[in-house]
Amino acid sequence: MTTTAEFPSGTILGYPRIGRRRELKKAVEAFWAGSITAAELETTAAQLRGATRERLAQLGLGRTDSAIPESFSFYDQVLDTAVTVGAVPARFAALVGADGRIDLAGYFTLARGEGDNLPLEMTKWFDSNYHYLVPEIGPETVFSLASDRIVREFVEAKEAGFITRPVIVGPLTFLLLSKASDEAPAGFEPLSRLDDLLPVYAALLDRLAAVGALWVQLDEPGLVSESSDVPREDTLQALAWAYAALGRLARRPAIFVAAPYGSLDDALPVLAATPVEAIGLDLVRGTVPEPTPGLADKVLVAGVIDGHNIWRGDLGAALDRAVALRELSPTVAVSTSTSLLHVPHDVADESSLGEPLSSWLAFADQKVGQVHTLARGLLLGAGAVEQELGAADAALATRQAAPGVRDGAVRGRAAALTDADFSRGEYAIRLKAQEAALGLPLLPTTTIGSFPQTPDIRRARARFLQGTVTEHEYRTLMQAEIARVVELQEEIGLDVLVHGEPERNDMVQYFAENLDGFAVTENGWVQSYGSRCTRPSILWGDVSRPKPITVEWSSYTQGLTAKPVKGMLTGPVTILAWSFVRDDQPLGETARQVALALRDEIGDLEAAGIGIVQVDEPALRELLPLKTKDHAEYLDWSVGSFRLATAGVADTTQIHTHLCYSEFGVVLEAIANLDADVTSIEAARSRMDVVHDIEAGGFDHGIGPGVWDIHSPRVPGVAEITELLETAVGAIPARQVWVNPDCGLKTRGYAETVESLQNMLEATRIVRERIGAAVNA
Ligand code: GLN
Ligand code: ZN
Repeated sequence: MTTTAEFPSGTILGYPRIGRRRELKKAVEAFWAGSITAAELETTAAQLRGATRERLAQLGLGRTDSAIPESFSFYDQVLDTAVTVGAVPARFAALVGADGRIDLAGYFTLARGEGDNLPLEMTKWFDSNYHYLVPEIGPETVFSLASDRIVREFVEAKEAGFITRPVIVGPLTFLLLSKASDEAPAGFEPLSRLDDLLPVYAALLDRLAAVGALWVQLDEPGLVSESSDVPREDTLQALAWAYAALGRLARRPAIFVAAPYGSLDDALPVLAATPVEAIGLDLVRGTVPEPTPGLADKVLVAGVIDGHNIWRGDLGAALDRAVALRELSPTVAVSTSTSLLHVPHDVADESSLGEPLSSWLAFADQKVGQVHTLARGLLLGAGAVEQELGAADAALATRQAAPGVRDGAVRGRAAALTDADFSRGEYAIRLKAQEAALGLPLLPTTTIGSFPQTPDIRRARARFLQGTVTEHEYRTLMQAEIARVVELQEEIGLDVLVHGEPERNDMVQYFAENLDGFAVTENGWVQSYGSRCTRPSILWGDVSRPKPITVEWSSYTQGLTAKPVKGMLTGPVTILAWSFVRDDQPLGETARQVALALRDEIGDLEAAGIGIVQVDEPALRELLPLKTKDHAEYLDWSVGSFRLATAGVADTTQIHTHLCYSEFGVVLEAIANLDADVTSIEAARSRMDVVHDIEAGGFDHGIGPGVWDIHSPRVPGVAEITELLETAVGAIPARQVWVNPDCGLKTRGYAETVESLQNMLEATRIVRERIGAAVNA
């Protein structure tokens, strides 16, 4: 490198890719369905990229100074990187052409699987609700520059008059997020392939420089997380090595290493000692670091605008943080803390939120505006942006004082809580009381809550929302659906029944719509994975329950059957995790308010004769902080909020919970601390691996390891389920074991549901009989 272009004074780490009206989602799904061609999909994508660049320029990012990130993806940025470096697992070798490349259809096949070829595994992207695809790397992986998509997108922008900044996942994070391939020997570590991977990055940087890219952004969030299996020293050594190698290249763009989602801590001095030109710090999650040797020569990119939340926030304080970075380096630029991929496009698309709520919000477009403002403030002094800072302050002041943000009754109640409110009586005594009250057989059978959401149900809800079906008609339709689901469960012979959740659009939004302190958006979509988007609710004020939510549905259901019906609620942590949550108080405080609202709901369910209540916490694991030192505090408030919600019931009332994953080990103690009488978890996909953790951990409450992987349409056979159940009762005392699927059935069809549940019941009968015979012998 000879000369380094100046870094733009304001930028963002990335922008939503799905489109304001979810154009990309629609086009991608149309391509999957075969109704448009790959060329048509490429055209739509190019139009979307073009529109995004124009929009970002209008909002104040420079057209030709590398301020606009080229962060488009058809599905996922980690998958893009895997395909760029040629890391296609051996089982997909047939998708790779003679030129070593994979076409668009092949790319989607890696993400979605085909026949017996399972897709790449999908998992959470740091502590966000975005999911990435896990690359598979082994000694056999042959790295090569197998896609020039990134180069082509830069050229496409250039032809439209832009100099953008290509964005790619950095080599360390790519390997740290990868798993060992099926072909790899035991103990193989993907990071051991770093030396073979670096030449591909080098080739890519060379190509980018050749077409005129001045800056490239390498995302290295892997450096802020401690959750990987690689010892920290090894990561830091690899970091020094990788960026020394890339820094030394004869021809390359200037390198900007971004580290979103947390602070770099001990990785910062290492990175500062490499020849990279710019370092991005997340100053929303992390703090301004101590002076560090080498840092003064770098551009410091101050991630002061929260890319992870939707609040307009304290703009003056953000500016102060950026200014404080000047102590460390004379060259400071302003940016978002993370990509804006986690927030919806534009507050202006929300007509029903109203004032003042709208004025407290900043979605992606507003955040770009904020970056632009702060960049000017940093350049010209706070005086130059006085008006903007004043407007942000005024919005913040209205927010603090607005009715509903602080509700005296809610706060008084939370303040008066004592330890007793968080504890139920002794488990052994509860167990006896519940056995007597419920009279369930050995290995009780149940489901997780939802039954298939048929097109009829969705249509009825859409019509109800449009106003073409009255509330009374809608209720009648849902009750008829519930009656069908109850009858089906009785026919199949399940022991604990559910109502099937037909009235719920989404397990969080449903509660958000029925609690005070929440608002729901019309167009606030964010990408969850691939073409899947969610529309998180906004938790803006103190939370309370104006009236019972589920009680009528549950008592109606219980009235239809002599078998126990489980009440079904979403837990406080999951409600928080899948919403945009207020940022003006600790999460634990907010969780407590949600817990109190749920506690009242559970009390009302109990009073209405519901003897079993399930409180789902599938997101308990997801919010676990990235740094180990923060775990204890998180587990304290998260587990505490569940206990607060559930501890108000009589000994006879059985509390269930459901968790959506099988990596039980890390949070086993926390799960035990939830003190739910029965916990159902995912276990079928891992062939019951989890029961050994449970056995080793001495977990003594009821446990339902899933016996049917509901994520696929495959029907598990009786023999297969019997084997899983035998594994479970082989490791855990049979009196603790419940029989259930992995998760809710809302995405399944009825045909496979009925057959799978019948097989589950038959397998249970076989194992019960075998145990009975063994006892009598
Ligand atoms: N009760 C919910 C259902 O069955 C649970 C879903 C979940 O764990 N994500 O749909
Ligand atoms: Zn689940």
